[in-house]
Amino acid sequence: MEENLCVLNYVDQLRNLSSRYIQVEIEIVPNIFKWCEEKGVSEDHPFRIAKALKNLENGRYLILINQYLTSENISSVLTGIEHSNYFSIDQIKKITDQKIFLIHLLLHEISHVLDETRTEEQCDHWALNQIETNQLTLD
Ligand SMILES: [Zn+2]
Repeated sequence: MEENLCVLNYVDQLRNLSSRYIQVEIEIVPNIFKWCEEKGVSEDHPFRIAKALKNLENGRYLILINQYLTSENISSVLTGIEHSNYFSIDQIKKITDQKIFLIHLLLHEISHVLDETRTEEQCDHWALNQIETNQLTLD
C-alpha cells in the first residue's frame, strides 16, 4: 500500500501552478471539516479534502487542501469519477498517480473559482484537460 501523500511537500509547486490561472491563496490545513467548524464556515462533508472559499469582504479566493491525502481519499474520489462515465479508463488511470491526483484536485477547485456555474463533472473534465494539454506534473 502506498504511503499517504503529504501535500506540504508540494505547496510551492501548487502555488506556482495556480498562479497560471488565477490569483488565489492556497492553505494546507490538517482537517478541512474541523477548520470550517472553527471558522464558522458551513461544510457538510467530514471527509472533504479540498475546498474553494470566497472571502466576501475582499472578494478573494482561498483554496484549502488537507495536509495528508490517503489512499482511501483518492479511491473515493476516483470511484465518483468512474461512475460519471465522463472519462476513459486511461484517463482515470492517469489520475490514480498520487501527484497527478493532487494536481487534479487543485485544478478542480480552481475550475470552480474560474466559473462558479460549472458542475462537478465539468470541473473534473476541465482539470484533466489542463493536465493532458499542458502535461502538468509535480517534481
Ligand atoms: Zn467540486
